Amino acid sequence: IKKIGVFTSGGDAPGMNACIRAVVRTAVFYGVEVVGIRRGYQGMLESDFWDMDARSVGNIIHLGGTILKTARCTEFMTDEGTEKAYNNLKEYGIDALVAIGGDGTARGAERLSNRFKIPTICIPGTIDNDLYGSDFTLGYDTATNTVIEAIDKIRDTAASHNRLFFIEVMGRDSGCIALRSGIAGGAEAVLLPERATGVDELISKLSVDAKNKKTSSIVIVAEGDKSGGAYQLAEHVKEKFNFYDIKVTILGHLQRGGSPSSFDRVLASRLGFAAVKELLNGKTRQMIGLRGNSIVLTPLEEALNASHFKLEDDLMEMVSVLSI
Ligand code: ADP
Repeated sequence: IKKIGVFTSGGDAPGMNACIRAVVRTAVFYGVEVVGIRRGYQGMLESDFWDMDARSVGNIIHLGGTILKTARCTEFMTDEGTEKAYNNLKEYGIDALVAIGGDGTARGAERLSNRFKIPTICIPGTIDNDLYGSDFTLGYDTATNTVIEAIDKIRDTAASHNRLFFIEVMGRDSGCIALRSGIAGGAEAVLLPERATGVDELISKLSVDAKNKKTSSIVIVAEGDKSGGAYQLAEHVKEKFNFYDIKVTILGHLQRGGSPSSFDRVLASRLGFAAVKELLNGKTRQMIGLRGNSIVLTPLEEALNASHFKLEDDLMEMVSVLSI
């Protein structure tokens, strides 16, 4: 391997920059050239390449977002698009890839590397934590910290006014952000896509809380929860339960930004460093991740076909126990 291409694609996540830095510097350390591909697969189709060196990634370890930019690209998903992307890589001498992104990014990388046999390692980068092959994805820890900061602030006003707050958090079809932030933020209930909680069950929990003299409550609603979102849920609860003044907050895209936490910076550095070393060891078509405290490889095909369910049983049980 003489020239590694690195790119970020799909949704951005805090920690992507720290990861790019690790990939670039590890490659340079081992005497391999490294090219940044801007805007993911879109940039591959447009040959938007950047010859990087150790200095290209200075002063970025603490920045959210991605200096390589990211994009969604439908043209790449066609057979002609994939071929065009590969031809551009070949013409530029890029003979291996490190892809940083979510499920879609990994599917694209699998397709490209399977068809054209270009050595490829994927690094899971998404705040949603919805990939198999790593206990944690880049950005998830930072996003959860952002959410609990917001919950803490909302708690102040909830407690002062006897309010019930529904706070909607991101995660697509995964409840990971909701569950962790619910535990860390001391929520009364957490509504998850992976576990249907009916409105009646929620109201009976809130009624018990009210009888037990709780003067305010916080309910975390994952965006993928089947209740139809925080506003709709709040409307349904209002119809049958009026003990509190009910308010809704949708946290939205602020969860995607911000300076990465120490956990995400270290994870990003470890995965970027290991991805380059594994490519140089001859590995290809793998998802790299953290399991326990070890860096592990999972064949991309296996990672993309497995369930990404990773809600811890003890956390699920704790939500109701610790909020009595
Ligand atoms: P994420 O990587 O965060 O899941 P997307 O799902 O938007 O984000 O995927 C990012 C990009 O990856 C898409 O815009 C597309 O270019 C490419 N991609 C996604 N799914 C596939 C697929 N099945 N085959 C080829 N390319 C794909």
